[in-house]
Amino acid sequence: MASFARQEHQFLAELGLAPRNPGSFACGAWGGSGPVVTTTNPSNNEVIAEVVEASMDDYEKGMSACFDAAKTWMAIPAPKRGEIVRQIGDALRAKLHHLGRLLSLEMGKILPEGIGEVQEIIDMCDYAVGLSRQLNGSIIPSERPNHMMMEVWNPLGVVGVITAFNFPCAVLGWNACIALVCGNCVVWKGAPTTPLITIAMTKIVASVFEKNNLPSAIFTAFCGGAEIGQAIALDTRIPLVSFTGSTKVGQMVQQQVSARFGKCLLELSGNNAIIVMDDADIPLAVRSVLFAAVGTAGQRCTTCRRLLLHESIYQTFLDQLVEVYKQVRIGDPMEKGTLLGPLHTTASKESFLKGIQNIRSQGGKILLGGSAIESEGNFVQPTIVEISPAAPVVREELFGPVLYAMKFQTLKEAIEINNSVPQGLSSSIFTRKPDAIFKWIGPHGSDCGIVNVNIPTNGAEIGGAFGGEKATGGGREAGSDSWKQYMRRATW
Ligand code: NAD
Repeated sequence: MASFARQEHQFLAELGLAPRNPGSFACGAWGGSGPVVTTTNPSNNEVIAEVVEASMDDYEKGMSACFDAAKTWMAIPAPKRGEIVRQIGDALRAKLHHLGRLLSLEMGKILPEGIGEVQEIIDMCDYAVGLSRQLNGSIIPSERPNHMMMEVWNPLGVVGVITAFNFPCAVLGWNACIALVCGNCVVWKGAPTTPLITIAMTKIVASVFEKNNLPSAIFTAFCGGAEIGQAIALDTRIPLVSFTGSTKVGQMVQQQVSARFGKCLLELSGNNAIIVMDDADIPLAVRSVLFAAVGTAGQRCTTCRRLLLHESIYQTFLDQLVEVYKQVRIGDPMEKGTLLGPLHTTASKESFLKGIQNIRSQGGKILLGGSAIESEGNFVQPTIVEISPAAPVVREELFGPVLYAMKFQTLKEAIEINNSVPQGLSSSIFTRKPDAIFKWIGPHGSDCGIVNVNIPTNGAEIGGAFGGEKATGGGREAGSDSWKQYMRRATW
């Protein structure tokens, strides 16, 4: 196998990667007859490797094999499917550190976050193994004499999974682990800027199917962009499309899937707020806001973008926050001690700079940061802005480390500001008052899917259903009863 130009990329060979990689895994074989693209390191914009993307021919070949494999996979008892997912978890454990490094290299997140993301899939595998013995139906009292009424859950067939660049493999894990134990084949299109992660993950999953003499087409994967995504959205062989990405693209995908009566599971943009009340544990809240606003360079769907501070603690809080922001170490995400890595692409950096211009033109006052950092990579300064909640820019998701600070007087007002944006993913309140907490989590509280108390907005526990309301799409993945979306209910 040819070696990589840079010595520090040699570990990629341990993941089965090469300087040039086929990016279509169709019918259990690697190929690709689409365009050749390069994947780059966001820290310096140097090329890591080349990938031959999938063409529409590759897609068609792969999908028809996947559709056939569905007949085999759905006939295997659910606990046996769980055993396969257990083996996938073990195969991932064996490659945890290499995969974590690849995430850091190709996506740009800091190494502990890269390793943490892979660990999340391993945890999902464990969760799904248990679930494979609990896909229970129910017996319902019938009004007819001598009759039993029951509900059973059957697989859907093939589940399409389209994922975003910022969680290039965890989101696949949330969907695929559940979809597989539920008896579905998976067709995955990863983000176009993280193809090495798509290929490395797929190789690990495929090795398990191969070892168990099962059709590798049960898990089919394509590197590519909008064209393959569109094909999945329009494909009547795919009853459920799970889409993670921007609200703009998600809305298009939903319309296309709905037009053919398919089901859609949407995990779209967030615009998440933390409310800090006058009685809050301020040091805890300061650390939490820092973690939520700057972690993953502000490129999480659950990143805190809006900070709502009670007027009585407003200035003290901001002073302390500015101090901790100044201590954030910015640099190579693979290096120990780095807290803030680069943005993912040069386009992300441009959109950060354009966002700062909009903020200024709409009356926002930059308290800290606000510029790109002079370097070969896509580094920007962590930024704190003072702005009115009425400024239009506050309603949008600026995908970078930009935090909008705002003042409020009452809890009612804070909740209204929290709920005033189109998105509804995550939210959090810092307070010690039980009445404020119960109001916050109740019907007149936060309108988001994730309603936290005294913890940051970011981070997801796999045991709970993850997702958000309104323009975030309404989908729920991973834990709780999310599995029901990956099956069809038969009542008899
Ligand atoms: P994006 O919408 O640009 O792309 C997402 C995916 O859609 C990619 O794989 C892309 O190739 C594909 N795609 C593009 N055009 C398509 C089309 N016409 N039809 C079908 N697929 C198409 O998003 P991104 O920039 O990769 O990711 C960032 C966004 O994702 C942010 O808005 C973030 O909040 C959101 N996100 C949400 C969650 C969540 O759980 N709610 C999780 C991660 C990311």
